[in-house]
Amino acid sequence: MITDILIIGGGGAAARCAIECKGKNVIMAVKGLFGKSGCTVMAEGGYNAVINPKDNFQKHYKDTLKGGGYINNPKLVEILVKNAPKELKNLERFGALFDRNQDGTIAQRPFGGQSFNRTCYSGDRTGHELMAGLMEYITKLGNVRILEDLMALKLIVKNNRCYGALFLNLINGDIFPIYATSTVLATGGAGQIYPITSNPTQKVGDGFAMAYNEGVELIDMEMVQFHPTGMANSGILVTEAVRGEGGILYNKNKERFMINYDRERMELSTRDVVARAIYNEIKMGRGINGGVYLDVSHLERDVIEERLETTFKQFLDVGIDIRREPMVVAPTAHHYMGGIRIDEKCQCNIEGLFACGEVTGGIHGANRLGGNALADTQVFGAIAGRSAMEFAEVNKINIGEVKEYTNGIIRDIRGDIEDKMYRDDKNNNYNKNNKNYSYNIFKLINNFKGIMWDNVSIIRNEKGLKNALLEINRLKKDLKYIKLNGIIQIQKYFEFKNMLTVAEIIIKCALERKESRGAHYRSDYPKMREELKGNLLVCGDRIEFIEL
Ligand SMILES: Cc1cc2nc3c(=O)[nH]c(=O)nc-3n(C[C@H](O)[C@H](O)[C@H](O)COP(=O)(O)OP(=O)(O)OC[C@H]3O[C@@H](n4cnc5c(N)ncnc54)[C@H](O)[C@@H]3O)c2cc1C
Repeated sequence: MITDILIIGGGGAAARCAIECKGKNVIMAVKGLFGKSGCTVMAEGGYNAVINPKDNFQKHYKDTLKGGGYINNPKLVEILVKNAPKELKNLERFGALFDRNQDGTIAQRPFGGQSFNRTCYSGDRTGHELMAGLMEYITKLGNVRILEDLMALKLIVKNNRCYGALFLNLINGDIFPIYATSTVLATGGAGQIYPITSNPTQKVGDGFAMAYNEGVELIDMEMVQFHPTGMANSGILVTEAVRGEGGILYNKNKERFMINYDRERMELSTRDVVARAIYNEIKMGRGINGGVYLDVSHLERDVIEERLETTFKQFLDVGIDIRREPMVVAPTAHHYMGGIRIDEKCQCNIEGLFACGEVTGGIHGANRLGGNALADTQVFGAIAGRSAMEFAEVNKINIGEVKEYTNGIIRDIRGDIEDKMYRDDKNNNYNKNNKNYSYNIFKLINNFKGIMWDNVSIIRNEKGLKNALLEINRLKKDLKYIKLNGIIQIQKYFEFKNMLTVAEIIIKCALERKESRGAHYRSDYPKMREELKGNLLVCGDRIEFIEL
């Protein structure tokens, strides 16, 4: 298959990117279903945009930098805040409608770390509305071919030029290339490398790993956001809108503990602060059933039933009526601030390769403000689309240059799968008594996630990080002896390889950043250090500090 523009991913950033590629042949290849996989469709609380005359770009810019621990790329932040209102209008043009005030203006709610009530929303299912609008619009365009249940395994890169990607068909197991003049990575983050996460199953960090494997520069990979409020023990998100609408956090002694962590902003402090506060309350024995209380019972019933409808129903499903009783919440792995290093045109350091959305780094610095990620998908999705189109206007690929190379990789991948497939004893290919064959991919993944949670989550230190690195090396060895049975296990095998790669990068960067900033908290270096105000760049074996 060959196309002008290949977009890998089917969330908000990919969809916005596709819309921009007018007049070009576009293939959008998605692991899972378009618009149903990924985080965008799950997004609840809202989209940040300066649309009120009392607000201004400068305020949004400052809030974003402050929230990000001042290591955001200022140029990208400026682009985000200036273009978020325009893209909000575009969303309404595509068919996604936002809630209104009595006077017909778009309603906005407060979100953590913001100096103005800037978050536009559609109840607490903003992402669903957004995706519905984008999908509806795209299906009418005619130039975008959507291919579902395809997992990108590897980018085709030769001589610093990207020629598309190799895919695994998740229905029939076929492995094949899609060649493209421009390739856009929009695969989102990697919440699933932790056992407790708000993210769906597809989010294992394929994009980070594929990029890293080809020498793409990544930045600030240690910056993983733990959302303060997931449903305790499961991690399913309890949107920040709950606190935005006035939800109050209590510990088991009924103390409103945020007063001890951020007296001024209380529950609407930034996510890193609230997540650590909750984590600490639980650690100090002031938690309840693995979490703390989040209470909205003092709010009007219609606020809960209408503006927090999803949360209301989500708890009703497990027998809790939040109009009368508190929720129990705990931190959950949520978002990646780090990722592929892009310039203002969403171009990375490989020619013909662009990136947008959560797979990129630099926009949110050390901590993302709630509501800024949806805006990011639209603003940078549109830019990536324009850049990919401009590139495809003036360049063409010659498949002949990479065909042999690609076929070689396909042979290697097929050989690897063949080698790993479970064989029946009758063919003498599988010996049940060989203990080396006893590894099970699901067990290895669960084991790995536990290691990440225990050592590389909300509070980190050198001992734990080094221990995690050792364990990961051990798991890499175990993976050699894995036996696979069926397409789901083959998918998990490739995903797990990527998860290990991503984890290793996160750990190495977390070890390197000897300070606490934003979401990255080191108990052995609890203070922010001015001289470390900068980005950690990773490329192959190189980790470099870039001062800001
Ligand atoms: C529960 C929840 C609520 C949230 N609420 C908000 C909110 O209210 N406001 C806000 O600003 N942000 C919110 N966020 C964050 C925000 O939704 C995400 O950061 C953003 O939507 C990411 O968009 P994306 O397009 O980059 O990635 P995603 O929407 O995650 O899409 C990634 C796509 O890539 C595909 N993919 C992955 N790997 C591969 C591969 N190997 N091959 C092919 N395809 C692949 C996936 O299947 C998916 O289609 C929330 C996140 C979650 C999880």
